[in-house]
Amino acid sequence: MNKTLIIGAGGVGRVVAHKCAINAATFGEITLASRTESKVSRISSEIAKKHGVSVAVAAVNADDASQVAQLIRKTKANIVINVALPYQDLAIMDACVEAGADYLDTANYEHPNLAKFEYKEQWAKGALFKNAGRMALLGSGFDPGVTNVFCAYAMKHLFDEIHTIDILDCNAGDHGYAFATNFNPEINLREVSARGRYYEKGKWIETDPLSQKIVWNYPEVGEKDSYLLYHEELESLARNIKGIERIRFFMTFSQNYLTHMRCLENVGMLGIKPVDHNGQKIVPIEFLKTLLPDPATLGERTKGKTNIGCLFDGVQNGKKRRVYIYNVCDHEECYREVLSQAVSYTTGVPAMIGAKLMLEGKWKQYGVWNMEQLDPDPFMYELNQQGLPWRIVEMKPEK
Ligand code: NDP
Repeated sequence: MNKTLIIGAGGVGRVVAHKCAINAATFGEITLASRTESKVSRISSEIAKKHGVSVAVAAVNADDASQVAQLIRKTKANIVINVALPYQDLAIMDACVEAGADYLDTANYEHPNLAKFEYKEQWAKGALFKNAGRMALLGSGFDPGVTNVFCAYAMKHLFDEIHTIDILDCNAGDHGYAFATNFNPEINLREVSARGRYYEKGKWIETDPLSQKIVWNYPEVGEKDSYLLYHEELESLARNIKGIERIRFFMTFSQNYLTHMRCLENVGMLGIKPVDHNGQKIVPIEFLKTLLPDPATLGERTKGKTNIGCLFDGVQNGKKRRVYIYNVCDHEECYREVLSQAVSYTTGVPAMIGAKLMLEGKWKQYGVWNMEQLDPDPFMYELNQQGLPWRIVEMKPEK
């Protein structure tokens, strides 16, 4: 029987735990571990009540690889699903190699004191995983994650050459608060307030934060302002999609969100360096996280939909082709199924699917892998089965 260890009990961790419990025939004995034991216990009780599945709980500080390795040995886990924060990625990867478990995450490594993220340090562990006969799957959320799988699917089935990709991410949900973020506030605000960047003709082009905007008509949502951001999947896709000329990422924000964010930035509340406050050191963005609503509590009050997809331009059989692949997810439907809003749902479900394919041997490899390097077909099949159906729209190619 498989044994599964999930680390992290925030909004995403809750969805992963529920979905693994729903798919208990694959995941076997499930343990949910996090820093704060009360959170894992609460999730375990709600799963027992809702799905009749027992999930064991544990407390762990995942910054400490030896603690994680000890927990892997104790639970005899053959896979670790890391849905804690990006700061813990390297320690949890090391623990997996040491104690002998496969690894999966949804966000690439970030150093707490540097507002920068890249795959370099995780890719560098490729040989370690290979030599240990283990697999690490990086970025198995929605974006990164499903967007990478959409790219692999387009490459396999729809195009001979893909020239440009625009990833289009819209959350049209309303939680009724003046300001809140839909996933970890610290990670979210660091990402959005950073300089933009995209890849074109072999070069990375930098832009001022939120300085480039397009308007896109998102099916089932409508037209929305969408701003160019740097997003982590651009790094691996620019490397793995052969012949790609340009790849960009756009995300929607309301004027209300942007006004709040700029104001917080202007007064220094997004700072990541400690400041002295009445003789105590505090990190402004960490304090802001304490003040803002916990994303894990937004589920029951969020209404509306998300729409995330990829727009491809390229050539098939000598003809220009433009194709849009997307998923629409409804916040209230997600809450009914797993007591979470759609941003956590669209991240947690693909994390469960990636782990399911690894455990079933359909995505079994050795070393460190990004999603677009694996066969997209079983993943696309599972998306339709597990609550994230996708659609393909043929569009008129640009001249
Ligand atoms: P939350 O902040 O809601 O939850 C994070 C969880 O990790 C909390 O339970 C927290 O514990 C736990 N944690 C933090 N530090 C440690 C530690 N040192 N040891 C053990 N546990 C720890 O975040 P989300 O659930 O919103 O996000 C989870 C991950 O998903 C993040 O990495 C995020 O970047 C990623 N993500 C990926 C997306 C994608 O599409 N690819 C989209 C959205 C998010 P405590 O409760 O004690 O603080």
